[in-house]
Amino acid sequence: MPCNHGPVKLLLATHESSMGHDTGHGHPERPARITAVVRGIMNSGIPVEHLSPAPATTGLLTTIHDGAYVAALERFCAAGGGAIDADTAAGAASWEAALRAAAAGPAVCDALLSGAADLGYVAMRPPGHHALNDRAMGFCLFNNVAVTAAHLRGLGARVAIVDWDVHHGNGTQDSFYSDPDVLYLSIHQEGIYPGTGSLAEMGRNEGLGHNLNIPVPARTGGGFYRRAVAELVVPVVSQFSPDWLLVSSGYDAHAADPLAGLQLLAADYGDMARRLASVVAPQRAVVFLEGGYDLEALEDAAAATVQGWLDSGYRIDASTEGITPEAYLDRAAASIARFWQLE
Ligand SMILES: [Zn+2]
Repeated sequence: MPCNHGPVKLLLATHESSMGHDTGHGHPERPARITAVVRGIMNSGIPVEHLSPAPATTGLLTTIHDGAYVAALERFCAAGGGAIDADTAAGAASWEAALRAAAAGPAVCDALLSGAADLGYVAMRPPGHHALNDRAMGFCLFNNVAVTAAHLRGLGARVAIVDWDVHHGNGTQDSFYSDPDVLYLSIHQEGIYPGTGSLAEMGRNEGLGHNLNIPVPARTGGGFYRRAVAELVVPVVSQFSPDWLLVSSGYDAHAADPLAGLQLLAADYGDMARRLASVVAPQRAVVFLEGGYDLEALEDAAAATVQGWLDSGYRIDASTEGITPEAYLDRAAASIARFWQLE
């Protein structure tokens, strides 16, 4: 039960090890991203409680990741690291950063269970939603949100994951593709990295209908996202009735982002957050920083996310730009309506 402990509060997980993860000169996934997100949250006007996560144990990591992959990544970092693929790099200090980023979500959930705050926010790096069980990719080493969902599943909880990063969270999708107790919904730009996330990828076996992708074309604006969340995501999550809601909150669908082609503004994240807050109990939601590479957009959108979620003065009236491709909305609705009732 939610406890009445005065003003709404945010539990913010950060650690200095996030600043030591060195991806190389000029890489967009850089330490200043964390500084920007934390600045936005600290200036949001919301009371913040801090949490400093311990490193993940191997036992926690192997709820999602292959033991041989975990051991190989540790050896790779200990030997000084380097490039893992064309996008992804790790250095000596990346091991500790990755361990603490992976353990942050479970630690935040445990603290929320004892009433520490109304909402959790994990502002750590490396991000996680592209990491596969046996492979780093797309700037991600361990799948932080998936590790958290696995931790919650271990406590018997049903978990919904909403992923509004502009890229499809292929690693998260893979982790729970057959699991009917983890609902994964992603809105993302079609035709860009990592190439997965079509409407047809809806889960398998028992998990069929519990993996929902809403791809959108370049130039899509916040109006589409607001409608997709209101008309598709909220009804589905309400019917699923999760014990916990986790958000893979990349901010790279923002109009200012250099890596993608969508047109969201900070207020759109506030609006989506406000709507999602209505479908889960207080103290049962955690927001995870994923992508987002424009520092000002990160600062503003992170602030809007926590303000929208905690209903604390975000700018609902800010204008949105870009297109609202009705055909994409209709097609996604038709697909989702095979499994879930939409109004
Ligand atoms: Zn992304």
